[in-house]
Amino acid sequence: MPRPIEALIHTNALAHNLARARAAVPDARLWAVVKANAYGHGIERAYEGLRGADGFALLDLAEAERIRALGWRGPVLLLEGAFEPRDLELASRLALWHTVHCSEQIDWLAAHKTAAPHHVFLKMNSGMNRLGFRPESYRAAWARLNALPQVGEVGLMTHFSDADGAGGIERQLRTFEAVTRDLPGERSVANSAAILRHHGGAIGAPRGDHGGDWVRAGIMSYGSAADFPEHDAAHWDLRPAMTLRTRLITTQQLEPGDTVGYGSSFTAERAMRIGIAACGYADGYPRHAGSGTPVLVDGERTGTVGRVSMDMMAVDLSALPRAGLGSEVTLWGRGGCGDRRDRDTSDTVLSIDEVARAAGTIGYELMCALAQRVPVRVTE
Ligand SMILES: *Cc1c(COP(=O)(O)O)cnc(C)c1O
Repeated sequence: MPRPIEALIHTNALAHNLARARAAVPDARLWAVVKANAYGHGIERAYEGLRGADGFALLDLAEAERIRALGWRGPVLLLEGAFEPRDLELASRLALWHTVHCSEQIDWLAAHKTAAPHHVFLKMNSGMNRLGFRPESYRAAWARLNALPQVGEVGLMTHFSDADGAGGIERQLRTFEAVTRDLPGERSVANSAAILRHHGGAIGAPRGDHGGDWVRAGIMSYGSAADFPEHDAAHWDLRPAMTLRTRLITTQQLEPGDTVGYGSSFTAERAMRIGIAACGYADGYPRHAGSGTPVLVDGERTGTVGRVSMDMMAVDLSALPRAGLGSEVTLWGRGGCGDRRDRDTSDTVLSIDEVARAAGTIGYELMCALAQRVPVRVTE
């Protein structure tokens, strides 16, 4: 029998979360962001749940090929554009839209032989200082790009550094608006946090007829709250798209003073029972999650005990006398799904954001780090 660990990808949750993005910005078109293999969910596995989007945004050309191989004929956007000139050949062949964020990418386009003009998004560095043209050089880049016969539509794009926090988007949005006000073209500015907290950022601002806006829904599509812990997924009505679950493979009875695991970091203060779950950091569970990190056992909330090791971890069964060998352990996602239809699963959700926080990281990192060795199944 294989190890009992598995990950489930919830097609309905993906579709539901995408619908939440639509409801937040009803006038915008929606990119489902599927970079990093759909945030660890698997592009092919997430496709069914996300195909209601207007387009797919990613940055790896091999992933763009996979989206086309699934039969997607709609827009596909390369968020970082071409990495070298010959990437434009694939962009031509697969009709990929691509970001243009630096002058070298314009040079490559100017030298590119294409049958059909490319649809591009010109990126402004409005304060993130990662990709894009600075505001003072943006319009010159636009003019140069717009004059190229290789280029058709030129969309306008920027990315926010603080949409999820107190900094907000105002300053960057003002810069972007001031520079682009009279330029034609579609806008794309909002990530998940901006969609939810700022209703898509620029969406709705009067800028004349420019053919519509695009928002870029990443993390929210997968059911994680971009602004956790200020708000949680339930606040935004998002559902986990991934469940990581396993089973207890044995239990231990501890006496006061007994310690658990490597480094003996946990000491039992009283007699207690623990379970040993078949999940460790080699499965993608964060090793930095300390004792007390929330976990569900048979759908009941409890905490981890001691250090996470490579293949196993301990969980507290003090309050769960019925739990034992074979009990289901949910590391994140939905407890009890798939096996037990008799319970309302809505109150047995363990958000990946809570686990991430206990490990000093964010939900994004945990979902992207799901290990290769974990078998994954698509479910409803
Ligand atoms: C990853 C990414 C997004 C999606 O961000 P989320 O916070 O996951 O919604 C949007 N835009 C760009 C440019 C990105 O790289």
